[in-house]
Amino acid sequence: MIADKLVRVHQRIASACAGAGRPVQSVTLLVVSKTFAATAVREAFDAGERHFGENHVQEGVDKIEVLADLRAQLDWHLIGPLQSNKTRLAAERFDWVHSVDRLKVAERLSAQRPAHLPPLSVCLQVNISGEASKSGFAPSEVAAAAHAVAALPRLVLRGLMAIPEPAADVATQRQPHRALRELFESLQRDGLALDTLSMGMSGDLEAAITEGATMVRVGSAIFGGRSPAA
Ligand SMILES: *Cc1c(COP(=O)(O)O)cnc(C)c1O
Repeated sequence: MIADKLVRVHQRIASACAGAGRPVQSVTLLVVSKTFAATAVREAFDAGERHFGENHVQEGVDKIEVLADLRAQLDWHLIGPLQSNKTRLAAERFDWVHSVDRLKVAERLSAQRPAHLPPLSVCLQVNISGEASKSGFAPSEVAAAAHAVAALPRLVLRGLMAIPEPAADVATQRQPHRALRELFESLQRDGLALDTLSMGMSGDLEAAITEGATMVRVGSAIFGGRSPAA
């Protein structure tokens, strides 16, 4: 069941890549397992997936512990809002944090990343649609923040992440994705070695890939619906 859904998601990724003239290997699927049990993660792992995303630090850590036998073979990504008092656990247990939305959070993650682990991969979250309710740096703040984060010793700044406002048609969906890609390219021109544009979810992954996404974060198209609060 999960394996069938994964086949379908990979078909969507492949056809979006073909339409954009991009190699299919240029897009990584991040399987968003928030609210779903560790057994569901194991099923996706058995189907070949190696990147998993969680929204809440503690929920992720619980699954990481249940799936300890797989730990060396997969990457765990934190994609949800990170409070200052949770940075230590995130720095100790995850491989990536996509949701760095304040310099203070980045500084804490760098200071708290254990010496025996490789540097933590991070993305800056950008409030690309300018929604008052969304966290993330304003686009005008991103360049200064990116240079500051790139200088932190125990982090590797990989790129940018956004959660654009939902839109029904692909043309409207593409606008914020294009804006994030342009910001990403401007940072690259500034000399930052970035390789990750984390954008696109179940409802808009085609638009995101058309605009250059290198990592799509997909939950409900793989595992089914979640309760609205999640
Ligand atoms: C839940 C979530 C996703 C996945 O959303 P779906 O619509 O279920 O694919 C992607 N990114 C973030 C940050 C999320 O919180």
